[in-house]
Amino acid sequence: MKSFRDFISEIDREGMLRKVKRPVSPGLELASVLSYSGKSPVLFESVAGSQWRAVGNVFPTRELVARYLGTDKKGILPALAGAIKSPSLPGEVPAESAPVMENTVSEPDLSLFPIPIHTEKDGGPYIASAIVVANDPEHGRNSSFHRMMVIGRDRLAVRILPRHLNEYITRAGGTLDVAVVIGSPINVLLASAISVGLGDDEFGIANALMPFSTVKLGNGVSVPADAEIAFEATITEEMHDEGPFVDLTETYDILRKQRVMRVNRIHHRNNPIFHALLPGGLEHKILMGMPREPTIFNEVDKVCECKEVNITPGGCSWLHGVVSISKKSEDDARKAIDAAFRGHKSMKHVVVVDDDIDVFSPQEVEWAIATRVQADRDVHIFPGQKGSSLDPSADPSTCITAKVGIDATMPLGRRSEFARAKYLDIRIGDYI
Ligand code: MN
Repeated sequence: MKSFRDFISEIDREGMLRKVKRPVSPGLELASVLSYSGKSPVLFESVAGSQWRAVGNVFPTRELVARYLGTDKKGILPALAGAIKSPSLPGEVPAESAPVMENTVSEPDLSLFPIPIHTEKDGGPYIASAIVVANDPEHGRNSSFHRMMVIGRDRLAVRILPRHLNEYITRAGGTLDVAVVIGSPINVLLASAISVGLGDDEFGIANALMPFSTVKLGNGVSVPADAEIAFEATITEEMHDEGPFVDLTETYDILRKQRVMRVNRIHHRNNPIFHALLPGGLEHKILMGMPREPTIFNEVDKVCECKEVNITPGGCSWLHGVVSISKKSEDDARKAIDAAFRGHKSMKHVVVVDDDIDVFSPQEVEWAIATRVQADRDVHIFPGQKGSSLDPSADPSTCITAKVGIDATMPLGRRSEFARAKYLDIRIGDYI
């Protein structure tokens, strides 16, 4: 068990945390600092108008996620894929021993939070790091990320796609009591970004990834006991403008009518740290894109032997994937393409390579495309597909898009013609 705050302290001790001591405005300035600080975690010790600290870029790289989980870069995918296959429920602790229950505010005022306005055309201040936890009498618990725009002291407009939370709201008759969590441990953040089936409890995946405890809020919804901040809230039937908002693609998502959430009560740790997730930034890409890799891996592994998956940052960590397989029969790559699209329905372009190619090296992937692809045989085009709402080139109302799968694998039995020439296994330092 390691809390969000424990991890901040850990990277601080290691000298990896940058601290901004001068007061920073939550309106554009805070987000700009995050944008320019690249792969460095940043703690804002003073945010104008708020007594609370903010932290961002906490998970901008696979290395930092791996460090939190106690593994290495290559260990994340098998850990996630395994946790999806064998979930285990977290234990619950009483409110007295849950850090998130240290303080309770009965008259919420979101204007006291260090909530940033990220870019100049944004519809308002946005919480981008929040997960919403909800219960359904039949399907159980659901946990998912939802961006939320502040529209009043205790009101937020919440972007809800037609997925599980929306189903829960509909089943509840249009109004649903939920919990909102900010500053969750990494296992909960990753699991909440995974797309599993209706009724699959994301907290079970999180607990299998790294054990943690939950606490039940007054409205009966459980949250991680050591989270920084938790709201008891009600999703209402009232609709409000939501957006514009910069999403993963770093382009503006359109304005839509979305549901209003009313915040009823706020619980928080002593001296809470607000997680300021920069939309479209590296941390957003890691937390949203990387959890799609295990679902792709599990689908591809059903039809052939899957080795590695990379949702590439150049493809917005959402629209492009590279999959490596150990090819055993000639149609493995073609089957892997179909399976990969099943594993991540928003993906638009996928490249399948042999396992001698490092999926994390754009150079090697391009080399495979250059030396192993004949377009008329290996490029598979699928027009008229349901794509991502984030892709500005897809039809904005229907999300209809064309998908492409590239088979960049070698023909079986001809590896010697396609393999990269090898040299002796020497240490260059012995010579130069
Ligand atoms: Mn779900």
